[in-house]
Amino acid sequence: MNKRRILTLAMAAMMLFGTVGCSSSGGDDKKTSGGDLPKIGATIYKYDDNFMSAVRRELESNAKDKADLIINDSQNDQAKQLDQIDTMIQKGVKVLAINLVDPKAATTVIEKAKAAELPVVFFNKEPDQAAMDSYDKCWYVGTVSKESGVIQGEVIAQQWEANKAKWDKNGDGKIQYVLLKGEPGHPDAEARTKYSIESINAKGIQTEELALDTGMWDAAKATEKMDAWTAKFGDKIEFVICNNDAMASGAVASLEKEGYFSGDKFMPVVGVDAIPEVITLIESGKVVGTVLNDAKGQGKATIDLSLNAANGKDVIDGTDWKLDGKAVRVPYKAITKDNIADAK
Ligand code: BGC
Ligand code: CA
Repeated sequence: MNKRRILTLAMAAMMLFGTVGCSSSGGDDKKTSGGDLPKIGATIYKYDDNFMSAVRRELESNAKDKADLIINDSQNDQAKQLDQIDTMIQKGVKVLAINLVDPKAATTVIEKAKAAELPVVFFNKEPDQAAMDSYDKCWYVGTVSKESGVIQGEVIAQQWEANKAKWDKNGDGKIQYVLLKGEPGHPDAEARTKYSIESINAKGIQTEELALDTGMWDAAKATEKMDAWTAKFGDKIEFVICNNDAMASGAVASLEKEGYFSGDKFMPVVGVDAIPEVITLIESGKVVGTVLNDAKGQGKATIDLSLNAANGKDVIDGTDWKLDGKAVRVPYKAITKDNIADAK
């Protein structure tokens, strides 16, 4: 074979692998273990979400050697997710573990599950009570959304009290804040937005909202919003409150460009989740606190309940989980520099 022919073959092989790589990350399902293990059919609303990536890793590690886990990237597309569910039902899964794209689509998913006589474990995006009540074989794994807002507000109040001599830039005693909200309609986003502020106020600290907008849980979108807000309000902003850590890290990236976090130019930023990236930002003093959202616990509970449901057992059989109605709710925890080890 001459050199050119070898090169052509090598390139063809690379293209082939390239294509294979693309299709497996392009929303098609992926098996992680096989055999005669019970089939769990799972979806993640989109793989390109910091926190959900952590949950996905936990689903995979907990399913190892116990279940045949089929997992799909729904790519933030509810119609696509419904197709994926149809396909998994055809493949004979014994249970569905669903991270909805749109929390309101729970009823449609439940109809499909009912028709196929399959149990469903929803996780992370909580369906409303009416949907949960409409089917005896559905459960939810997540948190008490309100709790994350309340705890975040407490972190803000505590940090503010300790630093207000410097942080109350206009000296009026109130916190002038901007708030980066998650996806509108998402129970966590709605509750965090409401209760973080209520919880600061409950501590006797007044607040003034300069701006509030959605960053859709996303770092890049948060950077864009923060760019616009610093241009508009500059040092009138005294606190940046973020519904999650991805947006907190996006806000920090924007603030760094504006010269914050060097010399005595500073801006307090808070998030929720305790993703590794933000743990590092807390250590370096660029984020003042977060609220641990336990991906490990939620991933484990989702597999535990799914396996029991698949085997026709009581969903919490043989586990330490407690049911609150039909939900397992994993607790949140405040994280600042002082207890950073708890988040690691
Ligand atoms: C997390 C967010 C995540 C969202 C996805 C929330 O509980 O805090 O980081 O983007 O769930 O549904
Ligand atoms: Ca002030």
